[in-house]
Parts: sequence; structure tokens; C-alpha cells
Amino acid sequence: MTSRWGRRHRGCDADVMMRIDLHTHTSASDGTDEPRSVGVLAAAVGLDVVAVTDHDTTAGWDAAIAGAPAGVRVVPGVEFSCVVGEGERRVSVHLLGYLFDRAEPRFAAERRRLRLDRTDRGRRIVERLTTAGVPIEWPAVQRLAGGAPIGRPHIAGALVTAGASSTVDDAFETWLRPGGPYYVRKRDVDVRDGIAMVLAAGGVPVFAHPRARKRGRVVTDDVIRELAAAGLAGIEVDHVDHDAADRVELRTLAGELGLIMTGSSDYHGTNKAVPLGANTTDPQAYAEICRRASGTQPARC
Ligand SMILES: [Zn+2]
Ligand SMILES: [Zn+2]
Repeated sequence: MTSRWGRRHRGCDADVMMRIDLHTHTSASDGTDEPRSVGVLAAAVGLDVVAVTDHDTTAGWDAAIAGAPAGVRVVPGVEFSCVVGEGERRVSVHLLGYLFDRAEPRFAAERRRLRLDRTDRGRRIVERLTTAGVPIEWPAVQRLAGGAPIGRPHIAGALVTAGASSTVDDAFETWLRPGGPYYVRKRDVDVRDGIAMVLAAGGVPVFAHPRARKRGRVVTDDVIRELAAAGLAGIEVDHVDHDAADRVELRTLAGELGLIMTGSSDYHGTNKAVPLGANTTDPQAYAEICRRASGTQPARC
């Protein structure tokens, strides 16, 4: 196969000029854009590569690939929650898995379990809010989710519609913050098991926004060292929730541990303010992710 840069290759190559965003959400989870439009939106902001990493589901993959215009490569992926530590030291973390075989049974079963758990958790959060007199109804949350796994942004949207909050961000801060009276924890697997599941499905595990303190407690660098030893392939360095100092420190850590460094928008459409392509990944890092993957490869590679 000959690429548009004229080199013959198998698998993926990466031109130095490529613009790559490796973390986006569609309406298959808690984003607002349909999967089929992601490639077109990516092209409109000058991206060559866009990953679709919906929470707990690969339901958007096929439409995202089918809808992408010529010249835009779609990287199939997923984002899912895991935990590090127990009790007082428990930290919730997000893991991105890229280019895995979605039919691999153990990881597929975990994604299914996570989706069912989301519905259960969403119902319990709404029950707590209702008991406290907040005017929110479960069918309104379900309508906003439109069949996708229920996420807190859907509950936040219903709170805005009900007039209980002025914006989605306000709903998160007022009603849905971790540790708050209406918060219900997910039942997540240990992050080492999460990493092992992605690897066993031929995928590439990357730690999403490891310093995102506004989402709750974050792990220490020593935990990242342990995870690198357990098979973690990379860390997301350039992310809207990381300040300049975080990025410098994460780059140093990644260099020390030989981890791939990614950058991405974590785009959610109009559910969050960050635009597609707000942060990007170095083409060499992208090429390394493709090289390590055996589950699948980017579409139009
Ligand atoms: Zn995340
Ligand atoms: Zn995300």
C-alpha cells in the first residue's frame, strides 16, 4: 500500500506534519456528536488522525470509520475507569485502550459489565437527588443518553433541563462531584487488571489524564512507575486538565520510564468546552502505538 506521502508501508506510518487527536467521545457514550460525523469534524479542524474512545463501548467504531472522509484515519479505542489502591488510598483512574480486538471475550465482558453498572449507578444517583427534593427524573436522563451507556454528563444535562443547575459544569460542581452526598461510586477493576485486559486483547493501554486533580485524587509518580512495569504503554501528557508544570513533570517521567506520550482533546462535543484538536499527539508516538497493537489497525491506515 502506498501512503499519500508516497512511501510504501504495511501498517501505519506517520508523517511529521500529521495532526493527531487520540481521545474523543461521541454520542455512543457521553459526547454530543454522532460517531459518523467525527471524521468530518476532524478534517474541518485540520486533523489527519482521530481516535474514538467512548466510555466502555466500541459501539461507535463502525460508523466513525464509515463516515470518515478520505485522508482522515480513525483509531478505534475505548476509555474505561479502573481503581488504584483501597480504602482511604483508593484513586479512580481512567485507562485508554487503543487498537484492541473488540471480540476478545474477557475485555468484551468487562465493557459489558461496566455498561450495566453505569445504568445501576445512574439510577442510584437520581434516587439520591430525588430524595433530596431535586426535580430530576430518570426518563429524562435516559432520553439524553439516547441508548448510550449512562454517564454523569447525562444526569448533569437533566439537572440543567430541570432548572436545578445553570450549566453542565455547575451541575458537576454542585451535585455530582466525587465524594459529594449524591455521588455513587462505580465498581471498577484494579488498574493492573485493566492494563492486562487491554494487552490480552492485542491493544495498547495508555493512562488518561493522570494529573487531572479537579476530578479527584490523583496517583503518585511511584504508582505510574509500577504501572509501567505492569505493561502500561503510555501516558496522556497534553490534556486540558494538566497545567504547564504537570506536563513538564509527566514528560520527564515518561522519558525515564520509556512511556509513549500522547496529547488529546478529550472532546465531548457541546458537553464540554474543549474543542477537537485542542491538544495533539506526536506522529512518532502514534506510529509506536500502531506498531505495538495486534488487535486491529487504524482505518484507512
Ligand atoms: Zn477520562
Ligand atoms: Zn475521556
